[in-house]
Amino acid sequence: MKLFHGKKLLIMSFFVFALLIAPANVAKAAVLQSGSTGAEVTALQQKLIRLGFYLGPSGADGDFGQYTVDAVKGIQSASGITTDGIVGSATNTKITEWLSKPAYGASTAHFSQSEFKCSCCGSLGGGMKTSLLLRLEALRAKLGGKSTTVNSGYRCAKHNAEVGGEDNSYHMKSVAADIQVSGVAPSTVASNAETIFGDGGLGRYSTFTHVDVRGYRARW
Ligand SMILES: [Zn+2]
Ligand SMILES: [Zn+2]
Repeated sequence: MKLFHGKKLLIMSFFVFALLIAPANVAKAAVLQSGSTGAEVTALQQKLIRLGFYLGPSGADGDFGQYTVDAVKGIQSASGITTDGIVGSATNTKITEWLSKPAYGASTAHFSQSEFKCSCCGSLGGGMKTSLLLRLEALRAKLGGKSTTVNSGYRCAKHNAEVGGEDNSYHMKSVAADIQVSGVAPSTVASNAETIFGDGGLGRYSTFTHVDVRGYRARW
């Protein structure tokens, strides 16, 4: 009997304990969105930066502003879930999934690695940088989810020379794409890409837009 009571007490204690920790769990899974501030936002931003997003000159500053909204929408679009820019449990799960993917070679919901193949030989080098595709998803979401075509992604040295690309073109480094967005003027695509590719390359052309994730700001 004593043992029975002991077990019962143990089970009862477990339920009381579960009730006690339940509110703490709810607080930990707080929804983060535009205007949110604090340590949880900083932690979210650090993950987004690890995924290759640019969050502006102040980086992970604990302030959920427009850069963070765009990056979150990029993850949501890349995952094929609603692009509302709000971080709840579904988006958190996706962020964790993306953190485990390779830095080069991953496809997203709307951009397949195969779309970036060199048009002359089908090569992809070592695979396109995953963060390029994530940022293209952010741009796609920012433009209302319109269909985006990759005119040129990876270029082998021979093809790069043929199209008159620069000798050190970022297209040969698997970090660049020339894109067209259905029904959106290239000038509008470029102005929307300004912040998302704030630490990358952005080239404005009459019929397409060049974007890349070279790691420093370049404009032409
Ligand atoms: Zn080629
Ligand atoms: Zn280009």
